[in-house]
Amino acid sequence: MDFKAKDLELDLTKPYNPQEVEQNIYNLWLESKYFNPDALPGKRIKKYIVYMPLPNVTGTLHMGHALDNTLQDILIRYFRMQGYKTLWFPGTDHAGIATQYKVEKELQKEGISRFELGREKFIEKVWQWKEKYGNIIVDQLKQLGISADWSRFRFTMDEKYSADVLKAFVHYYQKGLIYRGKKVVNWCPRCGTSLSDLELEYKEENAKLWYIKYPLKTKGKKGEEFIVVATTRPETMLGDVAVGVNPEDKRYKHLIGKTVFLPLVGREIPIIANQKIDKSFGTGALKITPAHDILDFEIAEENKLPLIQVIDERGKMNENALKFKGLKTEEARKLIVEELKNKGYLLKEEDYKHNVSTCYRCGRNIEPIPSWQWFLKMDQLAKYAKKAVLGKQVKIYPKNFQKIYFNWLDNIKDWAISRQIWWGHQLPVWYCDCQIKENNKNNQNFIVALKQPRKKCPVCKKPYKQSLEVLDTWFSSALWPFAGLTLKDKKNYYPGTTLITARDILNLWVARMIFSGIEFMKKPPFQNVFIHGTVLTQDGKRMSKSLGTGVDPMNYIQNFGADATRFGIIWQAVSQDIRWDETTIFAGKKFNNKIWNAARFVKENTKDIDFKIKLHPKPQTKADQVILTELQKVQKFTKNKIEDFELAQALRKLYDFFWHQFCDQYIEASKKQLLDLKLKTNTQLILLYVLFESLKMLHPFLPFITEAIFQLFQDKREKKELLLVQKWQ
Ligand SMILES: [Zn+2]
Ligand SMILES: [Zn+2]
Repeated sequence: MDFKAKDLELDLTKPYNPQEVEQNIYNLWLESKYFNPDALPGKRIKKYIVYMPLPNVTGTLHMGHALDNTLQDILIRYFRMQGYKTLWFPGTDHAGIATQYKVEKELQKEGISRFELGREKFIEKVWQWKEKYGNIIVDQLKQLGISADWSRFRFTMDEKYSADVLKAFVHYYQKGLIYRGKKVVNWCPRCGTSLSDLELEYKEENAKLWYIKYPLKTKGKKGEEFIVVATTRPETMLGDVAVGVNPEDKRYKHLIGKTVFLPLVGREIPIIANQKIDKSFGTGALKITPAHDILDFEIAEENKLPLIQVIDERGKMNENALKFKGLKTEEARKLIVEELKNKGYLLKEEDYKHNVSTCYRCGRNIEPIPSWQWFLKMDQLAKYAKKAVLGKQVKIYPKNFQKIYFNWLDNIKDWAISRQIWWGHQLPVWYCDCQIKENNKNNQNFIVALKQPRKKCPVCKKPYKQSLEVLDTWFSSALWPFAGLTLKDKKNYYPGTTLITARDILNLWVARMIFSGIEFMKKPPFQNVFIHGTVLTQDGKRMSKSLGTGVDPMNYIQNFGADATRFGIIWQAVSQDIRWDETTIFAGKKFNNKIWNAARFVKENTKDIDFKIKLHPKPQTKADQVILTELQKVQKFTKNKIEDFELAQALRKLYDFFWHQFCDQYIEASKKQLLDLKLKTNTQLILLYVLFESLKMLHPFLPFITEAIFQLFQDKREKKELLLVQKWQ
């Protein structure tokens, strides 16, 4: 390391100005290469490894990222200073649907649809878009002071990463864990793709509940008696295959096994019993439409009922909807209700408030439809994930999140991993058109392989084509702890130590990383999972860009500096959720000034001595005694709190110590002691010692100002050092 403090243009006699300092300090760290564990000084045996939750390549830094990454940075900086070989893996996620949607919108402005452009050209556009905007969030993380090893940066669509993703698919397939099946999936007609349960957003809707009379068959024909079903979606009744009741429901016991005639269609359908039917909904009798409801689909499978699809992939009524064919579902609904009314089938209509599921990307209502998809069998993998936490190889904090984790794994369904979009990892699946149309059911007609098969289609002799489907983005991010790593890194830096993340992706991401790690690397990917809260608005609501209730951390960084921003965020992170209060940022700024001024005092009053960092001064006065004892206490406290992941408590204690004990008490007392020739030198040494030890403790929280001050005290040294790698006492 060789650099000059002068290059940093630091001047203690002027007020602290983060805008002038932070960029230079960050460059200094980059120059040192110390973010890379292989370049760290000294002999380091213990390792501390963190995998950064991947921000979407479409993203810009929001408060959630700022909190998540500051927490990780504090840990990484702390353990780096404790002599660990620290590695923080950074990267970005290609975010299939989100990115595709962004680029599509961009094209829309030019009046072009992706279909006009074609797949290949469209993907080219996405890469261009990524080159232009994909680094925004990375630059923002750097401005926040994130000390990740950028030399190991990975993007989930990189060549090496993609190769590992496809290998994982082939591996699962060869083990018999991947299969193709027709199931009712959540479908977004706008995005034209299936979505997992976890990708839905629920919105409250003021709807109607229609009570419809289904006439019972008596003596071989339509009788006078009815069974009444209630529904919010009368248009799906055209695809009804049964009426279901709960076997325990006394009102309907005598009707089980009888049949009814489906109004408007005339089809005779049975009344069946199934435990899954909710007695308390509507009349307790449910229309069963397996093609357009996921629960009905399960009931139909159990009761061996057929599947009649009436809504197509564009959200329109299909040929099975008879005269309603071609209509949008809403139009069909109106006409059907009218006809039910006219024909005397409608008993009543009620206002009804309920939650509807919508696409988390575009907001359109989800249409459950049957679709051919690729699935990953979950039973064995879920057991791995569960066992790892039960056996304490992975510990989840706070502990109450374990219950959520287990609950999800206990009720897990097979994972639909295929998506019908263009941007993503194209499935390593090969087929021939001539076989696919009629015989979709048969896995035999597909070849799963990394490369295009050399053999030709046995029927038409044409070459095999690659499937147009892509993998769910979460399939690739589940491999994040190891995909795309060199063999050496896989050996040296897997498994990791700690994962820090938000609670909403505990199942979506964390659980999947755990079973993937066990499956492919034989070990869970990390030992600890820390779940942090959400940054909410002051009145406790979710921050929303569209409502304008979000706050932009970049504004704070630009106006008050990264240190003040980090201070404000961590100061508030005492409980799970944070109700955002920006006065803590102002407090952070004030604290920075306090530290700067204290450093100026120490510098001015210690000009005549050379201080060795490793020196440990002895107390001569009562004030000396107090500050040195208190320092020792706060060092121990800070260590314990950081290691227990109570970072806010650590910061608050450090703040109190520095402001009140060091500045208010000791610096005041030192003014007298410095005038006393017998005490002067020792007092100077104590001032330097306490300041330096404080800078070290504060560094993980406020990395820029602490490093800047440390550099200012390096001006007399021949060999400069960085606070970044100083060891704590
Ligand atoms: Zn959508
Ligand atoms: Zn063929």
